[in-house]
Amino acid sequence: MSSVSIPAEVTKSISASRKAIEGGSLSLTSLVQHFIGQIELHNPKVNAFVAVYGNEALAEADRIEQKIKAGTAGKLAGAVIGIKDVLAYQNHGLQSGSKILDNFVSQFTGTAVQRLIDADAIIIGRQNCDEFAMGSASKNPWFGTVKNFANPEKVAGGSSGGSAAAVQACMCHASIGSDTGGSVRQPAAFTGTVGLKPTYSRISRWGLVAYASSFDCIGPIAHNVEDSALLLEVMAGADTHDSTCSSKPVDAYSKAELSGKLKIAVLKQSFSEGVQPEIKNALNTKIEHWKSLGYTVEEVDFSLLDYLLNIYYIITTAEASSNLSRFDGVRYGYRSEKATDLESLYKLSRSEGFGPEVKRRIMLGTFVLSASYYDAYFTKAQKVRRLVKEQTEELLSKYDFLVCPTTPTVAFGINEKVDNPIEMYLNDIFTVQANVCGIPAISIPLGENADKLPFGLQIMAGAFQESKLLAFAKQNEISTLA
Ligand code: GLN
Repeated sequence: MSSVSIPAEVTKSISASRKAIEGGSLSLTSLVQHFIGQIELHNPKVNAFVAVYGNEALAEADRIEQKIKAGTAGKLAGAVIGIKDVLAYQNHGLQSGSKILDNFVSQFTGTAVQRLIDADAIIIGRQNCDEFAMGSASKNPWFGTVKNFANPEKVAGGSSGGSAAAVQACMCHASIGSDTGGSVRQPAAFTGTVGLKPTYSRISRWGLVAYASSFDCIGPIAHNVEDSALLLEVMAGADTHDSTCSSKPVDAYSKAELSGKLKIAVLKQSFSEGVQPEIKNALNTKIEHWKSLGYTVEEVDFSLLDYLLNIYYIITTAEASSNLSRFDGVRYGYRSEKATDLESLYKLSRSEGFGPEVKRRIMLGTFVLSASYYDAYFTKAQKVRRLVKEQTEELLSKYDFLVCPTTPTVAFGINEKVDNPIEMYLNDIFTVQANVCGIPAISIPLGENADKLPFGLQIMAGAFQESKLLAFAKQNEISTLA
């Protein structure tokens, strides 16, 4: 679209973009044109965006550029952001990657997105994901598969795969995803980007399509820690629309600094058999580096790790089966044309409108909540969730951070793990702990394998310790500008 050459730096950093616009060396309009051009070029292959708001973005660029010149612009002026198809944005489509929400248009803008807009960010489009954010591969049955920009035969991860691939392919500065069990961090690891899941309740969930309400978090995917911190700072904070949203003050995350000698716990299972050797080696190199800085680094054995996936998949499917009951063919989106009465309307609309993974989870969730199995599965999982939370909190009272690889492997092939949901679920082994406990966690690039596929380092901290977490992540990030 645009023939103006745009330096890579301003496409990969919000602050660099802002500075260049303020200094007069870059126009926001030409930057938006550049991103639209990148989307036109790469999206047919990558399939990261399901809708692009090009004209609106250009109109906004003009308006915001004036504000920058007048010195009245918000914190995110100069930023171009994509949003996952689970976030409500007034008068824009919202489908949660599902046919059941065919042609659904949002009537309001959710809090997180509204705060981005109020801070003068430009929303450039809506991004592909796993249906209802259920999955690890962004192989969407209705919108097609998101491809990894480093290798189109590999997945970009999920469920915020479109959001991560869009950043990886430099189609926008950053994306806003959602993370219920790793959906921001795992795709970030697979695409060499930074993915942040904040503390549960740090960002309002109003306007986020619910998957599992006691786990769901909105989080940014960006090229660097600084942008992630800035986006969190803008989106976080009390909201009268979400009574679970924390009213704790929001720190200046983008200015956070580290102090003192840190104590780092490394999860013993980071070195277990299923973890790829390149990932173990890169983690060992990091450990040596931390030791050389005088930090205490100790291996810890988290004995409840084996139960994490069970807890996660029991409780999230139970919550999902309840949350998704509202999609009945009457109130929203898709309605089966074959229905002959109310019951067949419900049954046919739901059978035709939901894809296989969503159906599997609704059935599993309904089963674990059924009268005969409630105590055996749901109640037990809630109890073990409490134990995991307590054990993790105890650990994080002794150490500043708990670290491990974000995923045991690099991005897998598009046709791998398709017939085996359990194998797919195992990919979440390291990411679900933070959601089970509600603590913040970040994935930053840790390295690449010989085939240039990236992998990530996950850092977890105690609840509401995002400042410390982001400062440590910044200290350990690999420059993506190289
Ligand atoms: N991969 C996990 C799942 O399939 C995480 C999903 C998420 O965080 N939304 O449930």
